[in-house]
Amino acid sequence: MTLLDDGGPRLLKGGPIAADVRATVAADVAAFKEEHGYTPELAVVIVGRDAPSTVYLHKILDGCRLVGIQDRLVELGDDCPAEALGREILALGAERAVAGIIVQQPLPPGIPLRVVIDTLDPAKDIDGIHPLNAGLLSLGYDGFLPATAHAAVELLKRSGVALAGRRAVVVGRSNVIGKPAAFLLLREHATVTICHSRTPDLGAILGEADVVVVATGRPGLVTGEMLKPGAVVVDVGINVVEGHLVGDVDFNSAARVVSAITPVPGGVGPLTNAILLTHLVRAARNQAEGRTAPGAGSLHLSIPTSQPAP
Ligand code: NAP
Repeated sequence: MTLLDDGGPRLLKGGPIAADVRATVAADVAAFKEEHGYTPELAVVIVGRDAPSTVYLHKILDGCRLVGIQDRLVELGDDCPAEALGREILALGAERAVAGIIVQQPLPPGIPLRVVIDTLDPAKDIDGIHPLNAGLLSLGYDGFLPATAHAAVELLKRSGVALAGRRAVVVGRSNVIGKPAAFLLLREHATVTICHSRTPDLGAILGEADVVVVATGRPGLVTGEMLKPGAVVVDVGINVVEGHLVGDVDFNSAARVVSAITPVPGGVGPLTNAILLTHLVRAARNQAEGRTAPGAGSLHLSIPTSQPAP
């Protein structure tokens, strides 16, 4: 537990948890190589040189090297036709060693996400963007989760924050963060409300929340006066304001009210990459050990047939 110097709220830092997760992944990768005789690989596909997510994707590749996962960067030109991207994803999917594939998002204008969805093997979709994985999550089964949403909820769980029976509010409803985070909180038996840009009185809803997850990309959207005293806040937002990284929560005013809060930077961000590596190892094992979903053709998604949806 880290407290602010003046005895303020507990700081929920992602770095120490990420270090633990990485140590486990490194051991798992070593065991995998020993058992299966090859190194699992993560392929990252970038389209165009100036993609905004390039820095984030390079960090993922750096993270692979730290734990013994083979990294591969596939760079396609700005003028890459949608069909060529599709062919590249199919070719990567056919390689045994490539256990996971991440395709830059957002894609350049002119390349529909549909191209990725039509060509990405859900068994290698370790960042949970494929509708099959999203559907599994919504039904309560274990598909691949979007890493950021997974990291946000994992941070709460590993920090010992009680979720069952508590009021949770997620601000933001994107497919990559808000919606999956809400489903994960529901899975933990929280009572979940999702807010978005058309929510009329955000403060009134936040005022009842024991746990708040904010993912909007609007710096300072959530302030201390909207929050319930003692609430726990996970700020997923990453924004650059006057050259500084800030979240979606106004940290100073929130810190006067809440019992625990993630710093930005240093909260969810560091854990996201480490969580993604756990997905890669799981995908590699599923593929190498031939676990196939019943009725799902060639998919290797470990869904126990007896597991009921909660
Ligand atoms: P997004 O796709 O743009 O979605 C933003 C969501 O916020 C939308 O659902 C939007 O509502 C909602 N919203 C916007 N303005 C609002 C307002 N005034 N009140 C309430 N809700 C509002 O963004 P995203 O991809 O989910 O990313 C969200 C943030 O997370 C960004 O800052 C991004 O940089 C950050 N991020 C962090 C990590 C990490 O590892 N920590 C990773 C990826 C992204 P509508 O649906 O109604 O438009």
